[in-house]
Amino acid sequence: MDTRTAASSPARNAEPVETGINRPITLIVIHCSATPNERTLFSGSGRELRTPVDEIDKWHFDRGFLRGAAAAQRFNPSLRSIGYHYVIARNGGLFTGRHPEEVGAHVAGYNRNSLGVCLIGTDSYTPAQWATLADCLPRWCTAHRVERRFATPAWREGVCGHRDLSPDKNGDGLITPNEFIKRCPGFSVADWLRGGMAPLEGHISPEVR
Ligand SMILES: [Zn+2]
Repeated sequence: MDTRTAASSPARNAEPVETGINRPITLIVIHCSATPNERTLFSGSGRELRTPVDEIDKWHFDRGFLRGAAAAQRFNPSLRSIGYHYVIARNGGLFTGRHPEEVGAHVAGYNRNSLGVCLIGTDSYTPAQWATLADCLPRWCTAHRVERRFATPAWREGVCGHRDLSPDKNGDGLITPNEFIKRCPGFSVADWLRGGMAPLEGHISPEVR
C-alpha cells in the first residue's frame, strides 16, 4: 500500500469516529480566526488547494504549537500543529483539526476538558457558517454529554466564547466587555444560545461560495 497517498488525503471533512473517547469534555469553546470577514482562507485549486485548516495549521506551527506524534499519526496526519478540533469555513464547510480525544491548544487554562471550534472571520459570519454551527453544536453536546447552555464564570461547563473565559477582575460573577482579554469570537455566545442558535443579528455576512 502506498502510505504516502493515504497520509496526503486525510478525510478532513468527515466527522472523526466518536467511539472510545475517554477524555472528559465539559466545555465547548467557540473561537474566530480573527481574519477579515471577507477572507475565506482558501487558496489555490486542485491538488494545490489550501484550506482554512492548512492556513491555521501553519500559523499555529509558527506559534510553536505541536500535536503529539501518535495522535497526529492516527488522525489528520498532514496537520502538525493546529490547536482547534473543528473549523467552520466561510462557505459553511466543516473541517476537522485535532481529534476530540486530543487535548487542544486554544484557550489558556481550559484546554484539558474542552473542545475548540473556530469560525473563519472576526465578528460577522455567513448564513452557511451559522447553519453549520447550529447543526453541529447540539451533536457535539450530545456526543460528549456537554450541557447545551452558556457556561457561566462560576460554573465552567457548557458552551461559551473564548472571551467569556477572561478573568473576572472585579469578582462580580460576570465577564463584562471591559474584562475581555480578547474579543474572540466577536459575538455573544450567550445571546446566540438564548436565541435558539439562530444567526445573530448584526453578525451576519453575505453568503460566499
Ligand atoms: Zn479564540
